[in-house]
Amino acid sequence: MSRAYNFCAGPATMPLPVLEEAQAELVDFKGSGMSILESSHRGREYSAVHEEAIANYKELLNLSDDYAVLFVHGGASMQFTMLPMNLLCGQTADYVNSGAWAGKAIKEAQNLGNINIAADCSKNTPARMPTENELNLTNNAAYLHITSNETIAGTQWKSFPQTDAPLVADMSSDILSRTFDASMFSLIYAGAQKNLGPAGTALIIIRKDLAERTADTVPTMLKYSTYIDKDSMFNTPPCFTIYMMMLVSRWVKSIGLETLYKQNIEKAAKIYRVIDSGEFYAGTAAPESRSDMNITFRLPSKELETKFTEEAAMKNLKGLKGHRSVGGIRASIYNAFPVEGIDALAEFMKEFEKTRG
Ligand code: PMP
Repeated sequence: MSRAYNFCAGPATMPLPVLEEAQAELVDFKGSGMSILESSHRGREYSAVHEEAIANYKELLNLSDDYAVLFVHGGASMQFTMLPMNLLCGQTADYVNSGAWAGKAIKEAQNLGNINIAADCSKNTPARMPTENELNLTNNAAYLHITSNETIAGTQWKSFPQTDAPLVADMSSDILSRTFDASMFSLIYAGAQKNLGPAGTALIIIRKDLAERTADTVPTMLKYSTYIDKDSMFNTPPCFTIYMMMLVSRWVKSIGLETLYKQNIEKAAKIYRVIDSGEFYAGTAAPESRSDMNITFRLPSKELETKFTEEAAMKNLKGLKGHRSVGGIRASIYNAFPVEGIDALAEFMKEFEKTRG
């Protein structure tokens, strides 16, 4: 079997041992005579999976009992709507516009109430995150929303702002990639299909008291309190996605978040070093905001970028084409992306520059 080095932004590379374990127990889950795909979500087998996933996230993020861990359908995009529906409550919310994903969150929130753009870096070249001093915050804001990692721009908050208002983050593309103080946040959400597992759900970390302010008129399936009260089992959860997430969370625990964080910084630095070594490659993110998860850069022409991705694919380096809205090259290198693939890309970049530069 030859596994590709898969630089896709999400769905993305999964840890090979996780895929192998899922394969090994796909048909007969732990001697139950049925697949976890076929098991009742109220049964003993699935309940153990569900509970372990939640316990692992609590442990990895060092969450106190003030927090609940939820699985909500609809991906991270559903949270763009669900969050203001639950928490705006007639107040103003502050949003940082840091790029395409923050922009989508803002657009949905604006449909539901008053939004203050606390800072707008969405048009900055090079792309960057704002500094804390640049934030223009509202008194008594319902919350401040940030996007911890802009997957398309390739920018990342390196430290998080201290705020009076509840801090909320879309961590879809960098959750569990680094150590951080989760207690700074009142709510974190993340689509599963990058660092957590396959697509099919969003992981929500929420301070339970925050969910109490939601109006009764919010539909049941869109209320955080429903998921808190019913342990994300008000209706049938995406069992297989959560099972895979549980296996990935075990894998993360076996390596340790600190080790993964160190590895992620080193992996990204190897590619940034090649970008910075000459004039041929141009990074699109400002160095102080560069993402360790999504590395974005340009070549001198679109023609060369096409050749680059085509020739890379022939060397088993797949999925390097930048997002369709911005073009260029993007290497997404989440937790499970192997260091051998990083070395292969760095070598390929040097070789390509030598022959085309
Ligand atoms: N936020 C960010 C930062 C993302 O990268 C993405 C997906 N690429 C989303 C939100 C949307 O996620 P989903 O497809 O799960 O709705």
